[in-house]
Amino acid sequence: MLEAKELMVFYENMLALNNISIKCDDNQIVGVFGANSAGKSTLMYALSGIMLDIQKKERMAGGERISLTGDVLLNNKSIMDVKPSLRARAGIVLCPERRRLFKESSVIENLRIGGYLATKSQAKKTMEYIMEVFPALQTLRNRLGGFLSGGEQQMVAIGRALMAQPKVLLLDEPLLGLSPLMQATLIKATKAIQQETNISVIVAEQYARPVFPIVDYAYILENGAAVMEGTRDELMDNPDVKSAYFGVS
Ligand code: ATP
Repeated sequence: MLEAKELMVFYENMLALNNISIKCDDNQIVGVFGANSAGKSTLMYALSGIMLDIQKKERMAGGERISLTGDVLLNNKSIMDVKPSLRARAGIVLCPERRRLFKESSVIENLRIGGYLATKSQAKKTMEYIMEVFPALQTLRNRLGGFLSGGEQQMVAIGRALMAQPKVLLLDEPLLGLSPLMQATLIKATKAIQQETNISVIVAEQYARPVFPIVDYAYILENGAAVMEGTRDELMDNPDVKSAYFGVS
């Protein structure tokens, strides 16, 4: 179980996360929804620990001061000071916004890069599973990352994260810029991954609508604060959520 407790993140004087507490139980899909700049990526960086690296880099460059308070817990143990590489080893794996593939490397090479934490047999099994959950990648095995469509890149990015043997997969805006059809494909695959592998997923998105059907629980962020939370059914029945996030009243 991955949990954030009373997280606050300041970029210099700018409050990016304001007292956020969120929880993802084992084998759950949790949604984090919010507009541009609501704090979704900042939350993902805090959970994955990448915020510690950003903080260190800024400090070394003499740039802005980033402060981080509150707690992040994995199975009830604080990992707030644990560096991102060790969090990845513990099973918290981030699939970052905008995919960040190696453009000069093939699909297979991009996937293999994600497998650096896996044993040979885990890597082989996961590679087979990726081809099963994203069959479109089978014929694209040797295509360079830079020549893939946005949706194909996202499949590879999720596949690469799976190669790292996650227990909790953090997906930061996986649907960004994709067609409704591709969004539906990715959402269906995300649900299949959770059901077939027992991996928990925290998915951050700007638009709730395409993701909502697969989440067990969701949080709505506004200006760095969680202004609403609940199970899918609770939020679906909430008239404020309906009008603000689904365009119906
Ligand atoms: P988007 O959908 O645009 O990715 P987001 O919900 O992921 O938005 P964040 O990227 O977490 O939002 O940003 C939250 C706020 O913090 C924004 O106002 C952003 O401008 C600010 N911010 C993010 N990174 C930094 C940084 N390194 N320095 C200063 N401000 C930052």
